[in-house]
Amino acid sequence: MKSASRPSQPPSSPVTARHEVVVVGGGLVGASLALALDQAGLSVALVEPRPAQPAASGEAWDSRVYAISPGNAGFLDRLGVWRRLDPQRVQPVASMLIYGDRAQGRLSFSAYDAGLRELAHIVESGALQQALNEAIADCGRLRLLCPARTSALEIGERAARLDLDDGRSIEAELVVGTDGGDSWVRQAAGITAQVSDYGQTGVVANFETALPHRGAALQWFRADGVLALLPLPGRRVSMVWSTALEHAQLLLALDARALAETVSAASAGALGALRLITPPAGFPLRLAHVPRLVAPRVALAGDAAHHVHPLAGQGVNLGFRDVRELASVLAARAPGQDCGDRQLLRRYERARREDIATMEFGTDGLQKLFAANPVWISGMRNSGMAAVDRLPLLKNLLIRHAAA
Ligand SMILES: Cc1cc2nc3c(=O)[nH]c(=O)nc-3n(C[C@H](O)[C@H](O)[C@H](O)COP(=O)(O)OP(=O)(O)OC[C@H]3O[C@@H](n4cnc5c(N)ncnc54)[C@H](O)[C@@H]3O)c2cc1C
Repeated sequence: MKSASRPSQPPSSPVTARHEVVVVGGGLVGASLALALDQAGLSVALVEPRPAQPAASGEAWDSRVYAISPGNAGFLDRLGVWRRLDPQRVQPVASMLIYGDRAQGRLSFSAYDAGLRELAHIVESGALQQALNEAIADCGRLRLLCPARTSALEIGERAARLDLDDGRSIEAELVVGTDGGDSWVRQAAGITAQVSDYGQTGVVANFETALPHRGAALQWFRADGVLALLPLPGRRVSMVWSTALEHAQLLLALDARALAETVSAASAGALGALRLITPPAGFPLRLAHVPRLVAPRVALAGDAAHHVHPLAGQGVNLGFRDVRELASVLAARAPGQDCGDRQLLRRYERARREDIATMEFGTDGLQKLFAANPVWISGMRNSGMAAVDRLPLLKNLLIRHAAA
């Protein structure tokens, strides 16, 4: 056996279980993968260190929300997860309006024009995680190891062996790392991510609005970063303001009224006066390109496999598309074929390459284009937006990609 990380267990500790696949990391991506594989009839274990937290309810709203694409909402529905969400707390997005930093810079997308029922659904992170956890608890077969943390990974000819810090060891044909941006599995498998820091923080907070949002997601590319107001049910919106560290610190230090006034002014009063309803929080933003999604008996998915700027709201959507692909490759394997088979893993990696590269290139390019200050670049990017706005075919293509 080849040791892929420093083992903290004695090598002789007994293997307590064998599965076809072990998923490491039970966030949104890992939990959905474990469920999808279980439903495809595979024997699965899921390892997660954090005990489940109750989702926000009643008057409390989670300040982490996601714009889930229609394709991924359909996938979560097929898993039996979507129907566990309270429909009163899910907001369909009917349109999207994007503003540049000059008057002519404007771009709009509408679900109606694209022949879709909605462009996306805004869902609270905690509610989606809870729905996934409930589906896992109800399915009965899937083995949930929580709280449990990984301590060593060894890759063998016939299986991978994963040691946990509580002394248990699991063998599996395949280990999937869905353990987030700082993935332990990725490091243990010897895959190095190319990480660049944006020097920005994503400041999130929810507000009540004086004016109705009419299901519109609004986004401003401003000199001080990208401000997005995503619609929530009722007269509420969820903000993500991706901005330089110092500016983010200033925003996070403002009192409730001053923050609401600052956001209202930055959004040109589009939704009238705002009232803060959840305390703001900040998340560091970076780009991570992971050159390989697979290694012997290891695959990566979700933020462990790519980390993109949140300006397009695509991070977890990319992760769910990884899951859909990996689950379908494994479900379609030949009878008796090993889940860690190199050809299968290569098929998964090849299938995901283009979508991930497009999103990494697109979000990074847009972020850099709008962070650049020279007047000629500012003129170009704003007239570029206006030009795209006049090209219905291109707009349709962009929508179709984001809706997948
Ligand atoms: C401000 C902001 C706004 C965003 N908005 C959107 C949006 O609107 N739409 C969108 O698609 N994306 C959005 N994203 C991106 C999205 O948050 C991420 O892409 C998504 O959370 C990644 O999910 P994941 O399950 O891959 O990783 P994570 O959510 O990081 O989950 C990883 C899991 O692995 C567990 N773990 C860690 N280490 C170990 C270990 N050693 N062993 C076992 N388990 C471990 C963790 O406890 C955790 O549960 C946004 C991101 C930011 C910062």
